[in-house]
Amino acid sequence: MIRLQQIEDAAERARRTIADEPARQQQLTAALDAARQALEHERARLAANQAARREIEKELAMQQARLSKFRDQLMEVKTNREYQAMQKEIETAQHEIRKQEDRLLEQMIEFDEVSRQVKQAEQAFAGEQARIEAERAALVGQLAEAGSAIGTLAAARAALAAEISPPMLALFERVLKYRKLSAVAPVRGGRCSACQILIRPQTVNELRRNEVIYQCASCQRVLYYEDVPAAGQAPGPTE
Ligand SMILES: [Zn+2]
Repeated sequence: MIRLQQIEDAAERARRTIADEPARQQQLTAALDAARQALEHERARLAANQAARREIEKELAMQQARLSKFRDQLMEVKTNREYQAMQKEIETAQHEIRKQEDRLLEQMIEFDEVSRQVKQAEQAFAGEQARIEAERAALVGQLAEAGSAIGTLAAARAALAAEISPPMLALFERVLKYRKLSAVAPVRGGRCSACQILIRPQTVNELRRNEVIYQCASCQRVLYYEDVPAAGQAPGPTE
């Protein structure tokens, strides 16, 4: 019966591996999407920086054209007042040019920084891609393993069930069903390890000698003896 429970446990693990597969695939897809989004975000910042830079360069070229036009006109002015007005236009254009040059410098500094972040995001994405590919490959292996394990375990279970007396097997099936996948429990330190209820010492002794089939009075699991001293009993490894 213990062996039967072990087979049940292994089969349950295999079933769970198969059942969990879509969720694990989804997690991997989500992780890859997140890394791709981070990369796209940095690339968008870089594109915005370059667009802003082109805009500034355009503005700068326009102001420079104005400036040279004013300088040409300065040669042709007739009166002092016209001269002063033109001089003021020139100063305004020069001021605007310096402003745009400062902005251009800021954009170039930002460009270096954002370029570095794009590179980092590319590396992170590549790393994540490799990790996820490896996990997917492992998952394929685990699935194939689980699939074949289910077949093997079913055969082993059938062979084992044939060796167990029908009433015992029926008992196992019954407890397995309403105790959700666990029909047997070891007695450790004088207690049922599943529900922790105290088992009478005489029963523990009988279990130790493998003389009886005994169900836990509380949780109904089929008990078996496992050689672990209880706390406070003979000195031994404390758990
Ligand atoms: Zn119990």
